[in-house]
Amino acid sequence: MNCNSAKSMLLPFLRDELSAEEVDELTRHLKDCPQCREDLEIYYIVQRGIDGLSKASLSTFDFKEQFERDLSRKTTEAHNHLSLLRTARAFFRTAVMIAVFAGMYVVYRWFF
Ligand SMILES: [Zn+2]
Repeated sequence: MNCNSAKSMLLPFLRDELSAEEVDELTRHLKDCPQCREDLEIYYIVQRGIDGLSKASLSTFDFKEQFERDLSRKTTEAHNHLSLLRTARAFFRTAVMIAVFAGMYVVYRWFF
């Protein structure tokens, strides 16, 4: 993923509008790209600031710490979702293979 597509995903990312695959791609890019990470941090702080304007605790709110927590939570969620998906796919492939071999065996027994 390049920086342009990463930057276009930052706001949808903060709004939880990305799929697990997109979050996975984006967070992998963010790991190696301090520039995009910084942009995300800025978006995040602005958004949290807007969300928290009415809250009295805003002045004591630790944006940086909250940002790191949210980012690692989103990364973990996407990762968990994807590994579940991969396990399901591997399971399905194995089941199909077993069915094919069972079918071949039945056909073999039928004719020979
Ligand atoms: Zn970048």
